[in-house]
Amino acid sequence: MSDSGDARLRVAIVGSGPAGSYAAGHLLRHTANELHVDLYERLPTPWGLVRAGVAPDHPKIKSVTNLYERTAEHPRLRLFANVEFGRHVTLADLRRHYHAIIYAVGTPMDRAMGIPGEDLAGSYAATEFVGWYNGHPDFRDHSFDLSGERAVVIGAGNVALDVARMLVLTRAELAVTDIADHALEVLANSGVREVVVIARRGPAQAAFTNPELRELGELSDADVSVVAEELALGEAVADPGADPTALRNVEILREYAMRLPQGRSRVVSLRFLLSPLELTGSGGAVESVTLARNALELTADGSLRARATGERLELGAQAVFRAIGYRGTPLVDVPFDAERELIANVKGRVRRGEYVVGWAKRGPSGVIGTNKKDANETVDALLEDLAAGLLLHPEPIGDAALEQFVRERQPQLVDYGDWLTIDGRERALGEPAGRPRVKLTRVAELLAAIGWGGDD
Ligand code: NAP
Repeated sequence: MSDSGDARLRVAIVGSGPAGSYAAGHLLRHTANELHVDLYERLPTPWGLVRAGVAPDHPKIKSVTNLYERTAEHPRLRLFANVEFGRHVTLADLRRHYHAIIYAVGTPMDRAMGIPGEDLAGSYAATEFVGWYNGHPDFRDHSFDLSGERAVVIGAGNVALDVARMLVLTRAELAVTDIADHALEVLANSGVREVVVIARRGPAQAAFTNPELRELGELSDADVSVVAEELALGEAVADPGADPTALRNVEILREYAMRLPQGRSRVVSLRFLLSPLELTGSGGAVESVTLARNALELTADGSLRARATGERLELGAQAVFRAIGYRGTPLVDVPFDAERELIANVKGRVRRGEYVVGWAKRGPSGVIGTNKKDANETVDALLEDLAAGLLLHPEPIGDAALEQFVRERQPQLVDYGDWLTIDGRERALGEPAGRPRVKLTRVAELLAAIGWGGDD
């Protein structure tokens, strides 16, 4: 028997992070009543990296979820969370029931440095650390030994700065955030006194942005330090016509280089023109990092590359975090560009009826808002294809029957109402301590908040 909506145009979006949410918003704004969107999400919680990636001490950035909530409340959108693509629903299922599928799955894997000693205990991927302090269920049981005095962060992007900052925030600074409780305890009791951030190129080539760099100079109990000679070395070949972010970064770093230590209990040191060569340690745990001193070299395409000079440095360290970028991972039956480590696509088109947005489309770059323009481009391509009759031809199915089908595959489907219940529970847990929320960090705990026993 059919129910209402047999003739609907249906779009499935896989992933409810910024890219998926912006894609849903644009799609709903630019279509009329016949087009309906189902937003699939692997976890019982929506918003992807806004919940599990943005640092806990950046609540303003997280407030973008207000916008995503408005999209999720749209009458033509349903959230199907706790439903995993490739496990509960397959590509064949979605192609049978939807006119189009949009992948918004991000680039969840970490990049490896590919150097000896990388697998020693105490060597960590920033992706794991970020997932852990943000209470992502996949990382909740990871452990980080922060008993040593010095931690090294490899990479000069915003993730590296997030990691560095989280390692030096005080208990009081952390305690007012939505950091996972397990991480709050470990970080508040950490023995780390110095965090050294290692950039392989010069200050003008660093990937971090101005507000994030400025924040390092405003920490309540950590000084910031920059080696003036390294700044000078990098600046000697810096392009004065470089982009304004780079020029401003250099100005901020110059000011840091002139600062005298203020006697705060911790320090963040920013080092330039150094590449990791090897991690070493007896007894299976990291004890030091060997670094190569680099010079900058102009390449044929006009960019500046790091070239080893032959000089080496040894830095004692008990924890090493690599924050050198993310990479995508293939989805079953979906074309993958192995070289770029992304879903194969041309401006968001994957193949007939399949599209991609966000980091899975263009790689792990840009801030959250960058995904809006990116999602719009893909959705506009989809709408163009719709007008040209170039989408899929699924079997007609009603709204209730389709939901029933998904619920048969995953009886513990979390819909938007269920998420609001979880959200309310987390906020209520945070309230007595003046925190935005206390995150539930296990799938079973999240489901228990909506009255379900059992696991995932
Ligand atoms: P990213 O911005 O691409 O930075 C990666 C850094 O790692 C670069 O400095 C890069 O140096 C370095 N690197 C790469 N391979 C290396 C290697 N083998 N050895 C040493 N260094 C290496 O990536 P991200 O920090 O992961 O950030 C991802 C995106 O999220 C960025 O667009 C970022 O702005 C954004 N984000 C934003 C915020 C925020 O707005 N607050 C917070 C977190 C993340 P080269 O330049 O020399 O390759």
